[in-house]
Amino acid sequence: MDGKSRIHCDIDLDLPGLRAGNLHLPLSTNSSAWGRLLTPIVVDVGYPGPTLIITGASHGDEYEGPLGIMRLMQGLQGTTLRGRIIALPALCYPALAAGLRLSPLDDGNMNRSFPGDPNMGPTAAVAHWVNTHLLPIANAVIDIHSGGSSLLFAPSAVIHDLPDITQGEITRKLAKAFAAPFTQVLTELDSTGELDTVVEAMGLPFISTELGGGGGVTPDTVRMAHEGLLRCLAELGMIDKAPAEDHPTRFLEVPEEGYLMAMNRSLLEPLVEVGEMVSAGQLVANLYDIDRPLSPPTPLHAPYNGILVCRAARGNIARGDTIAVVGHDEKNQP
Ligand SMILES: [Zn+2]
Repeated sequence: MDGKSRIHCDIDLDLPGLRAGNLHLPLSTNSSAWGRLLTPIVVDVGYPGPTLIITGASHGDEYEGPLGIMRLMQGLQGTTLRGRIIALPALCYPALAAGLRLSPLDDGNMNRSFPGDPNMGPTAAVAHWVNTHLLPIANAVIDIHSGGSSLLFAPSAVIHDLPDITQGEITRKLAKAFAAPFTQVLTELDSTGELDTVVEAMGLPFISTELGGGGGVTPDTVRMAHEGLLRCLAELGMIDKAPAEDHPTRFLEVPEEGYLMAMNRSLLEPLVEVGEMVSAGQLVANLYDIDRPLSPPTPLHAPYNGILVCRAARGNIARGDTIAVVGHDEKNQP
């Protein structure tokens, strides 16, 4: 990951005021010999204060981030912040343009590409620029995700249990301020290469979200992204007023045994919707084998009492797909 970035940013990130520009990465392709990958960047610099980095569309089939960030930044016109927001509303622009989770340029998964590499493909190069140019000047990072085309989530903020008490407390305050219906305290199946991992290793507060999914948006999930970001700005002291929360967020633990997986290619019959309560042993989904129409479906059961926080959004299931995720209330609600 050593080396100089080939990316340059065409706007000043320190000058007071609100402006938009692009990160420029030279990219020579079949269709554009002397082309560039342009990644939008928006900055709002106010009075002295903290620097908040906000990212959206790290995965290109998740739309609450770009929409929530554009609503936020447009709404800040005429307001003078205490501090600075640097927002990348389409962190993986090629994936967003294609409506895909991964970048079609290099099959890169932006949220598995950190800390990045300036000499690898465009996804790793953009990750490297963020890691070397933005994270060192950040005081907090918010990364807006949803389930994309393949998963559907009960709208949630997502945090991890952090060993550093102060970092953990600020993270929880931000998750409380974001006030999604749920906050998942997640055990990641694989955190290698995530933005979360590099930000948390720097000792910074970080929250992510899973606001919906299925490859679309709803009026509620876009509003949650926008208003949640405003409440986080108020929590950080960057603005005075933010919309009131609908309800206090409900903190859920999501341990590894909460993930239910398909062992065979199958058709999904979901029996519980995201956000609904489940009890230990409750049937949450049936997986049918279309090649054996009379064979009974494979049942999937809730491992404990809790909430269905996620389910597969597609009916057509591959071997190894996550079908459902069950969280349970934190032992000690903060
Ligand atoms: Zn995502």
